Amino acid sequence: MHDTGSAQMSNDATHAAVSREAERLIALERLDMLDAPKDEGFERVVRLIKDIFSVEIGLVSLIDAHRQWYQACAGIAVGEMPRSATFCRVVVDEEKAMVIEDATKDRRFADHPFVTGDAHIRFYAGMPLKTREGFTIGTLCAIDRQPRQFSGREERILEEIAGTVMDRIELLQFAATDGLTNAMTRRAFRTEAEGMVTKARRKAAPLSVITLDIDHFKRINDTSGHAAGDEVLKAVAAACRDTLGPDALFGRLGGEEFAIVLPGADRVASLAMAETLRAAILAQPLRAGLAPGPVTASFGLSTLSGANEDIDTLLAQADAAMYRAKHDGRNRCIAWNDVRPPRPASRRRRVVKAGTIIVGGEQPLVACTIRTLGEDGAGLKVSDAAEIPDAFVLVIDGEGREVSCRVTTRDRQRLDVSFSAAYA
Ligand code: GH3
Ligand code: MG
Ligand code: MG
Repeated sequence: MHDTGSAQMSNDATHAAVSREAERLIALERLDMLDAPKDEGFERVVRLIKDIFSVEIGLVSLIDAHRQWYQACAGIAVGEMPRSATFCRVVVDEEKAMVIEDATKDRRFADHPFVTGDAHIRFYAGMPLKTREGFTIGTLCAIDRQPRQFSGREERILEEIAGTVMDRIELLQFAATDGLTNAMTRRAFRTEAEGMVTKARRKAAPLSVITLDIDHFKRINDTSGHAAGDEVLKAVAAACRDTLGPDALFGRLGGEEFAIVLPGADRVASLAMAETLRAAILAQPLRAGLAPGPVTASFGLSTLSGANEDIDTLLAQADAAMYRAKHDGRNRCIAWNDVRPPRPASRRRRVVKAGTIIVGGEQPLVACTIRTLGEDGAGLKVSDAAEIPDAFVLVIDGEGREVSCRVTTRDRQRLDVSFSAAYA
């Protein structure tokens, strides 16, 4: 009797935690900050953290279903990390600040690779980044390689800075243009693009979407430096704008990823435009030493049809085609129709849901974030796509549903899958 009661209670607690996590992910999605371009305001914050607390590492991070993503990071070079491997996961799970003065003396972290390995982490102070509704979407951290104490006053200072970070996140919701490239911000672009799609559908006029991603951009940053990378980004954006007509919409979706809406353009016209853009980027004269080789980009296209009636589906399809272009050797343009036969595809919703991929083997379960979801397929993000086989079972956490998947396109961290039975 007693046992059943406590099992029931822990079941209820698990359900509550799963649904709170689902709401947290929705709050994170609303802010639309993940994979956003670098931002000087957050860079300044992490530099300040290092100075104020005299620590080696400062960071601002966001945590989705499967990973920690660094919006700004000073003192350590990281892009993102599987969520399960991080200290900050605890701050998000417990929704409160965590201070560890000496990680070697903390049972939870003493054997952690960051502590035992080269990173040599000893001191950690992590403050939750909380939305107005109270959801912890990420962390602000001061980290050091030697043990250290943290006074109540210091904790209050860190908390205040976390407040200003959240203020900046909220303010950025209203920004229309990206400071570096003058392209539209992701949010502004989507809003405008949505309007254009509605108009095109009403008039039964053609419309196409192009996404492009600079090839091997990390190499440019690594060999020529971040400032050179910034200049290349500006040059690529300028080349696009100079080529595009006045009706085209041009936005920066992420670090080195841009998107375009071409009203009035059918598949043939948009493919011609993508080719012109590709050539313009390649021909762009760049200051000597700015990049180790020619700068190129890969393009994906999708054209409005009965099979994709909203901007999210169009973008997801263009993106999947773009990743095929990467896979096929980069510096090329590929249309969605050439990736998938033109049969009616279901509408894809943009979501952030936690998912688990069942792969078997040594590591049978892999956490993922479901980014787009339709009746017949989904777009998934994982930490390392190479470890995922072509066929697997996806569990949509919290919905208790399983669906058999087959990979249609893949990149290092992205998988586009089709379901073997309809998921409704
Ligand atoms: P791929 O050909 O597969 O696209 O490879 P890639 O190296 O371009 O792709 P990856 O996603 O590995 O690297 C993108 C890099 O862009 C990583 C990130 O540090 C950098 N980045 C993101 N935003 C900015 C920015 O605003 N300025 C600079 N200089 N770099 C940025
Ligand atoms: Mg790239
Ligand atoms: Mg990219």
